[in-house]
Amino acid sequence: MDATTTPATQVATVKLLIGGQFVESKTSEWRDIVNPATQEVLARVPFATQAEVDAAVASAKDAFKTWRKTAIGARARIFLKYQQLIREHMGELAAILTAEQGKTLPDAEGDVFRGLEVVEHAAGIGNLQLGELANNVANGVDTYTLLQPLGVCAGITPFNFPAMIPLWMFPMAIVTGNTFVLKPSEQDPMVTMRLCELALEAGIPPGVLNVVHGGEAVVNAICDHQDIKAISFVGSTKVGTHVYNRATLAGKRVQCMMGAKNHAIVMPDAHKEQSLNALLGASFGAAGQRCMAVSVAVLVGDARKWIPDLVEKSKGLKVGAGIEKGVDVGPLVSCAAHDRVTGLIDRGVAEGAKLELDGRKHSVPGYEKGNFVGPTIFSGVKPGMTIYDQEIFGPVLCLAGADSIDEAIEMINANPNGNGTAIFTQSGAAARRFQEDIDVGQVGINVPIPVPVPMFSFTGSRASKLGDLGPYGKQVVLFYTQTKTVTARWFDDDTAHGLNTTISLK
Ligand code: NAD
Repeated sequence: MDATTTPATQVATVKLLIGGQFVESKTSEWRDIVNPATQEVLARVPFATQAEVDAAVASAKDAFKTWRKTAIGARARIFLKYQQLIREHMGELAAILTAEQGKTLPDAEGDVFRGLEVVEHAAGIGNLQLGELANNVANGVDTYTLLQPLGVCAGITPFNFPAMIPLWMFPMAIVTGNTFVLKPSEQDPMVTMRLCELALEAGIPPGVLNVVHGGEAVVNAICDHQDIKAISFVGSTKVGTHVYNRATLAGKRVQCMMGAKNHAIVMPDAHKEQSLNALLGASFGAAGQRCMAVSVAVLVGDARKWIPDLVEKSKGLKVGAGIEKGVDVGPLVSCAAHDRVTGLIDRGVAEGAKLELDGRKHSVPGYEKGNFVGPTIFSGVKPGMTIYDQEIFGPVLCLAGADSIDEAIEMINANPNGNGTAIFTQSGAAARRFQEDIDVGQVGINVPIPVPVPMFSFTGSRASKLGDLGPYGKQVVLFYTQTKTVTARWFDDDTAHGLNTTISLK
């Protein structure tokens, strides 16, 4: 997104975090952070200059010299304190998040909570960053591995989980001994910044965590910077592919978690009420702005007869501002997102899908300027239609049909994206078949949004992920460390047993 405005004195400004200090940017490019339910300007975010990016990286590079040697227990204790601070500030964090992003307050707490789980996991680093040892690999020789931090690492995050996704990144990077430069989404950086303040309060030393704001230019500066060793990116496939190509070309280790088109298969033997409720929650929760939102339901056989019930249930969902009680579906993050989603609904109608429920022109009393789109359902959706081929990222559920589980699996595997999927069934055989044959990273069995807990790693197939290792879980310890293999022999005395010119260890 482009920067559009210059700072006005009456509106708060979001600060950069460099060398342990929250500082005002010297940039001339600023962007408004807007409440999506009211259009109120909450603050302005700077698009950092190249010099500011350089200063953040230099501060991280300097801090790495001592942080990499800090005892593992000392690192772990900071994250123990941090998880406590996040818990104590849960209500405040959720309120900031709802104001700038739009999701409902309970869902905002969920956003913070799923990140908090990763912080808790980081506090257990003593059991995670362990090498291996083989005793007596040759006469008097042992071999062991060290998992050493890389240096300065960076994270680039999307707008839809401004608490959880930054917390996927910097806690695990820092607890493994690296220092970090974070570039939050320019659309909603305020809750991220509050989380960074709490991280410093928990004891993260100056320079270990730095934050720069901005868009394309700042992301490119991070990709190109010679002192950054690894980048974790979460966002759209288009931008992620660009980041991956540019940063790997610059010699960095990169992981990119990207776009989605998540399908759920509904088998006719599924528990109907449970499955339809799960489906609607996963399609319309967070106004469909989750990378794991179900955006296509493939109704198999007689499950096609459930469409009227699905539509009726959806009409019961309450659309409104996230701060109001009882709201199920909040506004979309921006006017641009609203126009893009309603434009795609127009396209779906024009291309022949049947509009079963129309969420366009949804007005919420008291919030007439909000970016609201109500739950929208299309049936008769097929590959080749724009609403099937593109990630809509709004509260739009596309219904497709299949005669068998084979046909449904084939359809999902033919989609370019492979982020999340689910099956609803009472058949263990069908569920097992699905988990075996489906080519998607996160698989749910009667679980609509199977985001892994932090002991496991988030993953993805095909266009949803680039790079071998995922964020959090065991994989991320490998992502943020370099394995060094040491082969050691200690002599008891100076009795020589001859000279060895072979490669063998004797
Ligand atoms: P986005 O790709 O527009 O933005 C992500 C980040 O890239 C932001 O920090 C942004 O400032 C930066 N950016 C934007 N345009 C850029 C450009 N041209 N060059 C360089 N950097 C640029 O994504 P978004 O709209 O913020 O988030 C929604 C997307 O993220 C969806 O596609 C969603 O599926 C995906 N997502 C994926 C996961 C996952 O784990 N797979 C999780 C959350 C979101």
